[in-house]
Amino acid sequence: MHSLKVLILEDHPFQLMALHQMLNANGVFDVLTAESVDVACQVLSRRGPVDIAICDLHMEGPDGLAFIRHLAESGLAASVIILSGAETCVIDSVGKLARHMGVNVLGCVQKPASSIVLHQLLRRYLEQDCCAPAVVRLPQYPELLDLTAAQLAEGQNQWVVHYQPKVAHDGKLVGAEALVRWQHPCLGLLYPGQFLRLIERAGLLDTMSLHVLDQALAYSARFQSQTGNALPVAVNITPHMLARPDLHDQVKAALERHAVPASALTLEMIETVGCTPDEHQLEGLLHLRILGCQLSIDDFGMDGSNVQRLLELPFSELKLPSEFVRGMATDGRKAAVVAGALIMARRMNLKVVVEGVETAEDLQAIKALGQPVMQGYFIARPMPGAELLEWVGKRDETSIAHLATA
Ligand code: C2E
Ligand code: MG
Ligand code: MG
Repeated sequence: MHSLKVLILEDHPFQLMALHQMLNANGVFDVLTAESVDVACQVLSRRGPVDIAICDLHMEGPDGLAFIRHLAESGLAASVIILSGAETCVIDSVGKLARHMGVNVLGCVQKPASSIVLHQLLRRYLEQDCCAPAVVRLPQYPELLDLTAAQLAEGQNQWVVHYQPKVAHDGKLVGAEALVRWQHPCLGLLYPGQFLRLIERAGLLDTMSLHVLDQALAYSARFQSQTGNALPVAVNITPHMLARPDLHDQVKAALERHAVPASALTLEMIETVGCTPDEHQLEGLLHLRILGCQLSIDDFGMDGSNVQRLLELPFSELKLPSEFVRGMATDGRKAAVVAGALIMARRMNLKVVVEGVETAEDLQAIKALGQPVMQGYFIARPMPGAELLEWVGKRDETSIAHLATA
């Protein structure tokens, strides 16, 4: 962890010193400190961006939230840990707001911080950093911003699909979510957070989603021929796509092209804030349901994925986002949200997929509430199709079944 650069904003000298020592004990020696928001801003403009900013909330003058706003606007910290003596609901709300502002929040922790918690958060940062950054600002690669829609479209053969397995309570593989990546010739493997907005702005999001659909169905067919087992796949689509009059014909043609049954395809509708489904979208959804596809509401409870949409549209599944699931073993309020969603889903006859299962503890907490399908880093990270085939051959599914009964 020695290469990490961390800023601590903390007005209490003893707590500042304790945190500094904990960072050193974790092998982090490039530590900047500030006892007020003004000083923190000056330090950042003088010493440049940091990997992690650890923010206290309550202090004289501007508070920690004002500093987080500054970080959101300046992009001077790749991620933030909120560490405060305030009530948990206040800390969590600040964390939520910070995420809305586009800040990558590693964790929201009540004081006093322990060295173990700090260690876990630093690990989380390193894992995110090399594997799947949660939030990445577009200006990270300014060269991408100059690309025209035509140039972006030309790079279609660099759009690749990774697959993240979904498992049942007994550990059995029940499907995989197809997630797009951009294998850029110079910049390496890019994640959706780094390019999706660019693709959307260029009007290419539908093209990209159809490309992913085609790849995912081809993979499902390959999986079946190599293992003898069908692999249901889930593909993300935007509500905008549903309004396309040709969508169900395109989906039908793709299913036929790869000889995959419609029941093996789930379309996950991703958020759009403030979007009320219009008649065309409803029609589009119904066509797909009549065809036999499953329809999922992604990131249920976040932003635009609300109960109203669930009532208005013919969904067959809801996906609970990482935000509710991560840390639910130790956060009763998150567990209550998940429990409530499971009860609601059961009564509405909906399947549930719980995303963001990162630890054995959270997995057990989910098991205690019901038997939803699970997806998350604890089970496996998204990976190329060839790796998923290897993973399936090598894995011990009883390890998850065993946790269920622990
Ligand atoms: P999503 O559909 O909700 O996908 C789940 C995201 O959570 C993925 O991020 C996945 O890598 C990540 N994830 C999985 N397990 C865990 C975990 O245990 N902890 C945490 N913290 N995260 C986990 P990814 O691949 O970066 O995708 C981000 C979003 O980009 C997706 O969210 C989806 O909204 C969008 N997206 C991805 N592929 C496509 C696509 O082909 N078309 C469209 N339109 N959108 C896509
Ligand atoms: Mg999804
Ligand atoms: Mg999701």
